[in-house]
Order: sequence, then structure tokens, then C-alpha cells
Amino acid sequence: MGSNTTVSKADYYEVLGVARDASEQELKSAYRKQALKYHPDRNPGDRVAEEKFKEASEAYQVLSDADKRAAYDRFGHAGVSGGGGFGGSPFAGGVDIGDIFGDLFGEMFNMGGGSQRGARQQRGDDLRFDLTIDFEDAIFGTETEIRIRRLEVCSVCNGRGSASGRGPSVCSHCQGRGQIRYQQGFFSVARTCSACGGTGQVITDPCTACRGEGRAASEVKLHVKVPPGVEDGTRIRYSGEGDAGRAGGPKGDLYVILAIRPHDFFERQGHNLHCVIPISFPQAALGAEFEIEGIDGPVPIRIPEGTQSGKELRIRGRGVPYLNEKGHGDLIVKVVVQIPRKLSRAQRELVAKLAESMTVENKPSSPGLLEKMKDLFS
Ligand SMILES: [Zn+2]
Ligand SMILES: [Zn+2]
Repeated sequence: MGSNTTVSKADYYEVLGVARDASEQELKSAYRKQALKYHPDRNPGDRVAEEKFKEASEAYQVLSDADKRAAYDRFGHAGVSGGGGFGGSPFAGGVDIGDIFGDLFGEMFNMGGGSQRGARQQRGDDLRFDLTIDFEDAIFGTETEIRIRRLEVCSVCNGRGSASGRGPSVCSHCQGRGQIRYQQGFFSVARTCSACGGTGQVITDPCTACRGEGRAASEVKLHVKVPPGVEDGTRIRYSGEGDAGRAGGPKGDLYVILAIRPHDFFERQGHNLHCVIPISFPQAALGAEFEIEGIDGPVPIRIPEGTQSGKELRIRGRGVPYLNEKGHGDLIVKVVVQIPRKLSRAQRELVAKLAESMTVENKPSSPGLLEKMKDLFS
């Protein structure tokens, strides 16, 4: 490579005015600033501006590509210029320059006041609504009203965007192509047409209610039906209840995302309900029968004789209904044996008598360990 092509090159970071560790975003915004300032459209016939514009484009093209940037950081201009000079078209390397200019001119254009962009059909955005429901409502289902704000077809112009109802006409600046190609030295750049924002159409008499957008935000009430058995995070999709489309495009969808409030007594694991109930030592030792209040009414509980603390009782079919299916999960009741903290004198004597009467087999111990000890001493 000839030295004449390298000595005069300015440092890419200096060209963009960023630090050597600048982030992608910093690079992009620095480049946009430069491009806005030196763009040939804004500086007709200015050779210096044109040169600066080229330099900035070249710097950005290299630094925005991770591989090229690494090579440049290591070897300088020699690392990225290929065999000769500036290695062919600077835009062949993958930077989507149209993208940046699309944004750029969109911005420039919007700065100029009311939007006069033309219409091109576009699907409306999907919307999300977060709905928190009670624990019981998730189990039994519920219905509720929600209020959402969404874009609706403008009622003044019926979505056409023009005051006269004539609708958009072909952009005269780009003849409807949406892009303008121009030669810039060895650059051939297609940039988004600034007059129509790339749509190829313009509205010459924008509707005053929607400023030519054809859609306007409004608040609507919607009826939401939550089926029984939903889980935390369930998404319910309401087709066509999102934003209205652009220029008669299809509507987006609405997603209602459910969050379930916790319950004081029950906990849910999938379709099973879990709860913990305390029982007394005599109930555990002798067995007992009683009722607890389940989520769907009284549930009979039978504690077998000799139940250990922590034992789980499974009551089939008393859990959460399956979503869109027949049947229910189970209710799982964990019993915890409560040891009395205070005893009366009479109770203390009874417990003492019980202790005296307990044989080795009654005493709590690991059976495995007992066996081993027997073996050891026999
Ligand atoms: Zn309108
Ligand atoms: Zn145009």
C-alpha cells in the first residue's frame, strides 16, 4: 500500500470525537451528529463539509464493526484498509447505512413540524396489560373490566389521514420510490427520501385531528374473562384488540398478563394446593377426625393413629381445576405436631407417667441405628 494513502488519514476516534472505549451507542450518536452537520444536502458545494462527511462515514463504518474495530485498534489504518487505499466500497462491509439515514432523516423531518408522512399499510402494535387477580379468582375464574389506551382509527378522517378525504398522493420528491440515490465521490448512497419519510407517498392536506397519522389514541373499556385454573404469568390473547393499523393495516393484538395475589393459608404448586395445619400430640398419637376450610368448602381430614410431624396427607381432587380440561389437582395437607409450651401440674404428671410407661420400642429413635447397636452388643 502506498504511503500517500495512509499518512494523511485522521484517527477515526478523533474524527468522531469519541473516546477509544466508546460504546456502540456513543459511536452511533457521534456519527449522527457529524452526519447531520456535514451532510451534503445541508452544505451544497462545500468541499470541506463533503470531506468531513466522508471521513465521518468511513470512521463509523470501521468502528461500528467489531472485527474491523479490533483490527483498527491493533494496527491502525493498515489493519482495515485491505490491500489498496480504502478497500473498495466502504459500504460493502455490512453497515446498513440506509438504516441510519432513515432514522436521521426521520428526525430531521419531524423537527420540521407536523407530520406529513404518507401512508403505507402497517399492522398495529400489540399491547400488553398487566392484570393482578385474587388467588380464588385464579382457581374459579373471574370476569372484569379493564381500561386500556390504544390507537384507534381516526374518526374525523376515517383513517385516511387527509382533511379532504383524498388520501395520500405520490411523493414528487422521490417519484414514489421512497429513496433517493446519489453519488458522493466513490460513495453511492441510497438515503430515505426526506419528503415522505421513505413511504413514497405524502399527505398534502393532513387531517387536523390526527395530524395525518390516521389514528388517534383513545381510552377503551374491555371485558376480560379469566378462565378457571390459570397460573401466575398466564397470557390471554385478545386478537385485534391492540393498536389500529396504519393506513388500514390490520390491528395488533392485546395480551393480558395475569399475576396472582398470594393466599394467607394456601400455596399453589401447579394444580396442587398446599397448606400446613397444626395438630396436638394426643391427636397425632391417637388419631383424629375433623374438618378444615378448603378453598372450595369444608374438607374432612382423618389423622391416622401414630402420625408423625411433617406427614403430608393427600386429598384427591380438592386442588385447582385443570385449565381447559376436566378434573382437579389435589389438596396436600401437611400436619405439624405441636408440643405444648406450658403444662399444668396435672398434665405434667400425666406426661411423666407416660414417659415412665414407654418401653424402648415407644421411644423415638432411628430403627436402623437401634439394629446396629443390638448387633454391636450381642
Ligand atoms: Zn384524522
Ligand atoms: Zn419521497
